[in-house]
Amino acid sequence: MKINTNLATLPAGYLFAEIANRVKAYSAQHPEADILRLGIGDVTRPLTPAVVEALKKAADEMGTPEGFHGYGPDFGYDFLIDAIIAGDYIPRGVEMGRDEVFISDGAKSDVGNLQELFGPDATIAVTDPVYPVYVDSNAMAGRLGQYVNGQWTKLTYLPCNAENGFVPPLPEKRVDVVYLCYPNNPTGTVLTKDQLQVFVDWALQNDALIVYDAAYKAFITDPAIPHSIYEIPGARKCAMECCSFSKTAGFTGTRCAYTIVPKELSFGGASLNKMWGRRQATKFNGVSYPIQRAAAAVYSPEGQRQNQENIAYYQENARIIREGLSQAGVLVFGGIHSPYIWMKTPNDMPSWDFFDLLLNRAHVVGTPGEGFGPAGEGYFRLTAFNTHEKTREAVARILNVL
Ligand code: PLP
Repeated sequence: MKINTNLATLPAGYLFAEIANRVKAYSAQHPEADILRLGIGDVTRPLTPAVVEALKKAADEMGTPEGFHGYGPDFGYDFLIDAIIAGDYIPRGVEMGRDEVFISDGAKSDVGNLQELFGPDATIAVTDPVYPVYVDSNAMAGRLGQYVNGQWTKLTYLPCNAENGFVPPLPEKRVDVVYLCYPNNPTGTVLTKDQLQVFVDWALQNDALIVYDAAYKAFITDPAIPHSIYEIPGARKCAMECCSFSKTAGFTGTRCAYTIVPKELSFGGASLNKMWGRRQATKFNGVSYPIQRAAAAVYSPEGQRQNQENIAYYQENARIIREGLSQAGVLVFGGIHSPYIWMKTPNDMPSWDFFDLLLNRAHVVGTPGEGFGPAGEGYFRLTAFNTHEKTREAVARILNVL
């Protein structure tokens, strides 16, 4: 068998494994250390009562002859698709057809799989720093060339840093696909409508596709910030959008998400909507009925209210971190429309050195910016998913060692 050498030679998933190793080694030597974790991107608040009730009810239905459900519709049940359109899009002035919404088990699978729509030589651009799945999934397909000194030779990096206000520059050379994620993981920053319009106009002029990841849209606090790329004129002709219930409704362990592929989206005469449907129908057999019922319950009035309480809880943590650090003179970004706070390391300290400093002297774990791409060097990511008490304690400890 000839193996996929692109996959076999992919650099190891270095970041979180390396963090886990360093924390493990430190804990083994200092078993008494009370380590506070502000590194992970996983939620901690339980599912809301509205979601749990829907899940139980649907599970009970599955045990009755009338309520049993086998394979569902390939792209999701209409009750969930309708709830998504009515809950997430109509209020933002965006119209959408049922057959443009594809329910899935996660935005990670969707953003990883959708590169199967691209030709083998398609050229790719990502913002830097970046959620690693966009890069690794294209590397596995052999589109990115060689990995040399921490960079892929054929990948276009769009650096986002304090100097450009975390607004990515347009690619200097034409590319086929640009991945954008807003609110951004890891920087926690957002783009305004005008800033996003620049990318949409560029994509339309260059016959390029935008893959828009809106996994964190529930954290946006300013209604003027776009929640969907389809709020931008022209986007239906150039963008796919991936959304998830993971961070918006605590579904990281429950698994439900959706991707929008507008009917107008076509390249070389081929409809991406049809191609994605064909791909999903072949390789994916849908999300279970109880989980789709649970996701639909997120949009009920109680579901919305209860869910908002969880989001507000994380937003308060983000505020504690952002204000605590900035009052002490630390440069911080994000954390207003996002559970992520992106801080500048003191005196441009390399981000792994800062990681070690915090672990050893403050017993706080965060994520070194360099792990998200070359432009992440000199930055550090903290997350708002811990408790209020531990978040306050972590900020106090960080300030103590700065
Ligand atoms: N997209 C971004 C930007 C993320 O940060 C994450 C999870 O951390 C995902 C997608 C994955 O979402 P899901 O849990 O739906 O697979």
